Amino acid sequence: MYCLMCGKYLSEDSFSDFFRKKDVLCRQCRGEWKLIRKKGVFESFPAYFLYEYNDAFSKCLIQFKECGDEALKSVFLYPEKEQLRRRFAGRTLLLLPSSEKNLQKRGFSHLWEMFEILKLPMMEPFEKTVHLDQKTLGRRGRARMEEAIRLRPGIRLPKKAVLADDVITTGATMRGALSCLGPGADVRIFACARVPERTRSSNP
Ligand SMILES: [Zn+2]
Repeated sequence: MYCLMCGKYLSEDSFSDFFRKKDVLCRQCRGEWKLIRKKGVFESFPAYFLYEYNDAFSKCLIQFKECGDEALKSVFLYPEKEQLRRRFAGRTLLLLPSSEKNLQKRGFSHLWEMFEILKLPMMEPFEKTVHLDQKTLGRRGRARMEEAIRLRPGIRLPKKAVLADDVITTGATMRGALSCLGPGADVRIFACARVPERTRSSNP
């Protein structure tokens, strides 16, 4: 078995690896990720974030998502899958939407592949609504427009759900999805990674 990022043969790692959790990355590659397992609140809903978004995470996500390297799908949740499955047992994962254009370009739903490993029920109930003329909008307007989200027609949402995304940055997409749910929804928020606040404020 080889590290999915650098290709190093995994059993070449030292003896102490015997006591580590099984992983699909070598110790060095995984060591560059910042595991935070952070519990918090997002718009009054319980939220959970696994990693802090950093260069190593970003590099891997880009290779998976933008370069279409599907082999990386298990990298994100693998070491935490049992823990996450217990945490969200009895809930359906509602995956946040990608734009149709990105989805077609990539040829696969990257969130579906990323979260499949948890073996929980999953749905993609949302779609992005982009029908405005981009040229007439400024940069801020475009950013807001891209977050316009609605439920796909005919969707019936489960009673207990988790809104799941790869990275939470400003939270605009997540807020858009929350606004599609009825009042009193029993929902939790999960993002594989969270952009730290200092980065968010310096990079609007
Ligand atoms: Zn590696």
